[in-house]
Amino acid sequence: MDTTTFDAYLLQHRERLFEDYKDFLRQPSVAATGQGIVEMAALVARRFATLGASVQIIPTEGNAPPVVWAEIGEGDKTLLIYNHYDVQPAEPFNLWLSPPFEPTVRDGILFARGASDDKGELVTRIHAVEAWLATQGKLPFKIKWLVEGEEEIGSPHLHKWVEQHQDWLKADGCLWEFGGFDENGRFTLTMGVKGICYVQLRVKSVDHDLHSSLAPLAPNAAWRLIWALSTLKDAQENILIDGYKDYVREPSEAQMELLRRLPSEEDAIKQSWKIDSFLQGRTGLDALKQLYFTPTATLCGLTSGWQGLGTKTVLPAEATAKVDFRLVPDLTPDIVADLLRKHLDKHGFTDVEIVSYNGYRAEFCDVEAGIVKAAARAAHRIYNQEPVLVPNSPGSGPMWSLSSFIGGVPVVCAGISHADNRVHSPNENVPLQNYYDGMRYIGVLIEEFAAA
Ligand SMILES: [Zn+2]
Repeated sequence: MDTTTFDAYLLQHRERLFEDYKDFLRQPSVAATGQGIVEMAALVARRFATLGASVQIIPTEGNAPPVVWAEIGEGDKTLLIYNHYDVQPAEPFNLWLSPPFEPTVRDGILFARGASDDKGELVTRIHAVEAWLATQGKLPFKIKWLVEGEEEIGSPHLHKWVEQHQDWLKADGCLWEFGGFDENGRFTLTMGVKGICYVQLRVKSVDHDLHSSLAPLAPNAAWRLIWALSTLKDAQENILIDGYKDYVREPSEAQMELLRRLPSEEDAIKQSWKIDSFLQGRTGLDALKQLYFTPTATLCGLTSGWQGLGTKTVLPAEATAKVDFRLVPDLTPDIVADLLRKHLDKHGFTDVEIVSYNGYRAEFCDVEAGIVKAAARAAHRIYNQEPVLVPNSPGSGPMWSLSSFIGGVPVVCAGISHADNRVHSPNENVPLQNYYDGMRYIGVLIEEFAAA
């Protein structure tokens, strides 16, 4: 690869490319409301077409946001790239220093909804491919690009789409949508995600709210729910659902080695959370194993009865809770819902209803795959540093569908975000330098993956 001409192209076309980036950001595309989704899919498809890609906008089930699918280049090797063109709602608007869909630069930092998550990463990659084609000739391998429009609402139709187009999706490595730099400016590569099962639980104990004087006779929904929830976990943080922990595997030696090499951030985290110690005094390697390799049971919200001003002596007829379970491989959302139902029944809580659940499966990829090594070498070349390799993210995403499900494609997350990027919040942003370096990073990654 001739990096001189590549870099010169990016510099020479900087303004036009940046306008293009801003066009992506000016187009709202909010999956939660549907605002601008159709227009955004069309914009992405048009942009891919200018690269000479073969592009299709493919509907998902039930007229949900379509998938934009593009293929560019030829070769024995294939890189799958996963991005999403939808964004989180921009509300509350009044906390934005400039309007969320009017990209604005202040002190070298670009502010807009989607500047980072995920239009920033998408545009960086598109621009890098453009520069490659203009300065290096043909791509050294085939790129298959999947850009979905529902990531921010949990990708409800993506797996079905993948199932229907499975034979298109063979690849030797996958570049995931997010990634970037930590608090200390260290470039981070992540090779997996935890799964998630999100449930709503509900108890309806009597027909309607009652006068609380009737407590000796009437079942109280709030107490029923609390007693049920208290059977899920003990005060020593053990999750007590039968069979739940059977799915926990010891990390591989390669994964443990990455944990041992992770820079310790315990003190900074404790300071930021204003606590003296983590749960159960967890620290060091044990804390990291818990964070990355064990499933959770988290009470996210609890609603019942009266919480307004003053007093109201009421016996609530209904109580609800939202609970999320972060999962490890093989512990699927369906299995969790099933284990949870059996657990509640066994403990006498047949009246606690699981109203709904959804989620993603976990995916822990090969931390020594060619795509990971290529991404690490590219980091050395562009950022002059040894990247922090994180075996998997404690967060979640539809990675299993695009990895294990399609034959074990190794995935790496490498992006342009930074620790204060405010994704999902007001004033989402990306330092322009991250975007400039990010394009050069992708150029070098193309070369390194071709050689891997
Ligand atoms: Zn997001």
